[in-house]
Amino acid sequence: MRLLSGVRPTGKPHIGNYVGALRNWKSLQDEGHECFFFVADWHALTTAYEDTKQLQQNTVEVMRAFLACGLDPNKSVLFVQSGVKEHAELALLFSMIVPLPWLERVPTYKEMKQQLSDKDLSNTGFLLYPVLQAADILIYLAEGVPVGEDQVYHVELTREIARRFNYLYGQTFPEPEVILSIVPKLPGTDGRKMSKSYGNIIPLENTSEELEKSILPMVTDPARKRRTDPGDPNKCPVWDYHRAFGISEDEKQWVFEGCTKAKIGCIDCKKLLLKNMKRELEPIWERYSKIDEHFTKDVIEEGNRKAKSVAEQTMKLVRERMNLLF
Ligand code: SF4
Repeated sequence: MRLLSGVRPTGKPHIGNYVGALRNWKSLQDEGHECFFFVADWHALTTAYEDTKQLQQNTVEVMRAFLACGLDPNKSVLFVQSGVKEHAELALLFSMIVPLPWLERVPTYKEMKQQLSDKDLSNTGFLLYPVLQAADILIYLAEGVPVGEDQVYHVELTREIARRFNYLYGQTFPEPEVILSIVPKLPGTDGRKMSKSYGNIIPLENTSEELEKSILPMVTDPARKRRTDPGDPNKCPVWDYHRAFGISEDEKQWVFEGCTKAKIGCIDCKKLLLKNMKRELEPIWERYSKIDEHFTKDVIEEGNRKAKSVAEQTMKLVRERMNLLF
């Protein structure tokens, strides 16, 4: 299947990006799908347009994370959205055929406006971002889009846009399927949503010592004030991490028994988590140490070239269908 997915470069890549997307992308790549993975720098501008000083560096850092997580430029097309200008042309053409109410009813539009109430999100780019997203997907004639549950509606909207275009101008685009990845949502180290603005993220590029400094003070079930107080893993952010980092059945039993009957301390529990996290993250840290900015920029240049050659073919067809031949 041809698949496409992207990440917004809003800050330094963190453990949540890895568990929520990059780990799954690597599996899809290794299963032999034809994958297009991109850094969505234009999408970052929809909510963070005022200050772009960090945008280029963040974009490079996200691509470094792709590579460190094992995405392979010889197997997948790894590129940056703004390097393939055809996305913008297709988004413009789609904006001509998308009725405004389709965008106003997008659930994340209202939710994000409420969540980011400190920002002025009355910009048209923010309203139109599902149209740009549809262009990102359809320009590669992608058949599947690996996303989390919160993005399912956007893929549905992409299918509607493809259908409308095909109806008006003739069969051009496939209707991409959602490839739903059920991944545990990782909270930040303070138990709140993981977010750079809360200062509670765990960077993906890390050292063993720094990881310990993030995990050991993590908040736990508030019922466990003393070691002798029983707790409930289901009320503890540490448990979400255990579930994300391959805890074995025996270990699971040990945590549940130890926590609910106050037989183990939270530090014992976190030490087990650290062991499992390090087992999975050490190969990533190792690769990180070998990937510099220069190499990353070369990967971007080559990936942009490959992506552009596919996007150009689609746009040629789109322009023909719409009689835009000059
Ligand atoms: S023992 Fe583990 S699961 Fe239970 S409260 Fe402590 S850290 Fe959380």
